[in-house]
Amino acid sequence: MKKKEIRKVLVVNSGSSSLKYQLFDMRREERLAKGLVERIGCGGPANHAEALEKVVADLGDAAKDIDAVGHRVLHGAEEFADSVVVTKSVMAKLDRLVKFGPLHMPANLGGIKACERIFKGVPNVAVFDTAFHQTMPDCAAMYAIDPKYYKKYGIRKYGFHGTSHKFITMEAAKFLKKPLSKVNLVTCHLGNGSSLAAVKNGECVDTTMGLTPLAGLVMGTRCGDIDAAAVLSIMETEKKTPAEMDTLLNKKSGLLALAGSSDCRDICSKAEKGDKAAELALEMLAYRTALYIGAYNTVVGGADAIVMTGGIGENSTEVRERIVSRLGALGIKLDKAANKKRGITAVISSKGSKIPVVVLPTNEELMIARDAARLLG
Ligand code: AMP
Repeated sequence: MKKKEIRKVLVVNSGSSSLKYQLFDMRREERLAKGLVERIGCGGPANHAEALEKVVADLGDAAKDIDAVGHRVLHGAEEFADSVVVTKSVMAKLDRLVKFGPLHMPANLGGIKACERIFKGVPNVAVFDTAFHQTMPDCAAMYAIDPKYYKKYGIRKYGFHGTSHKFITMEAAKFLKKPLSKVNLVTCHLGNGSSLAAVKNGECVDTTMGLTPLAGLVMGTRCGDIDAAAVLSIMETEKKTPAEMDTLLNKKSGLLALAGSSDCRDICSKAEKGDKAAELALEMLAYRTALYIGAYNTVVGGADAIVMTGGIGENSTEVRERIVSRLGALGIKLDKAANKKRGITAVISSKGSKIPVVVLPTNEELMIARDAARLLG
């Protein structure tokens, strides 16, 4: 493909019933517009093509001269270890990956197909939530079950939030003034969905999510790690189908099940008022996060920094305090005054800490736009 200057990049995140977009001027990485179309297929636009027509109408003149469209795509499996310019053969491969995300992938691909039609001749770039984690060694990525399930169906750990982990890895390297290829980190994306990544020499070597985004930390509505036999036991005793169990573990567990709300702010204010269930939920969340930080610090051979991001990581002073207070064995101490900062880059560990804890705001949309510009420009 001929390279050209990529100035204007539209970033599209097509979900099953919504479409989020941001428009960037990449000369200064400046955001020109952002918006959301909701209720696709349920009262609003009939499909993603109609939703994009609405985006074009909303953008008006700004929709002219778009040089590239970057798309968030849930799953690249082992096919895609990096973002990719969408061609016919890429599209055929993506169609074969729908089984890895039957809920999200059709919507993601619908967004790409709609852009191909609406922005004729404008290249589309697919950016995968899984790609950053493709550098994981087999010892981290494989499950200890009969390898035929990997060979036949691709059952292994893939990891998600890769775009965010990659973005904060790059930002952390800049912040620490280290070359990307030499930086060791534990990156913590803590939001409604949460995951940690172990980053060695700038590359992911382990992450807490698995085949799907269910594994790992305690999340808003997902249980995270659980003994698979406990799942079987509930299914058998309550005669639940796999689909019902999927809903239970993904949508009705985590903070929601433990303390009645999936929103961390609600849980914090309940705990402050003495609600014991909320208190336990926060301790479980902090405990498991600290557990993995300790493990991943070992995995990377000693981290240059622990990095926190996402809605909770960037903003929740309460949760950050609960996590960092469990990291004493790593020689880390919280700077209580610095930890009051919200939503901005800040070192929240005390000066004498052996490993700094750094809060860095993530920007997945900008990362997608950067990848589109990198591949085409
Ligand atoms: P995300 O999925 O990254 O948007 O993060 C959503 C989570 O961040 C929710 O659990 C929110 O309660 C939490 N969050 C967002 N803003 C704040 C804040 N100012 N203080 C505490 N938690 C926050």
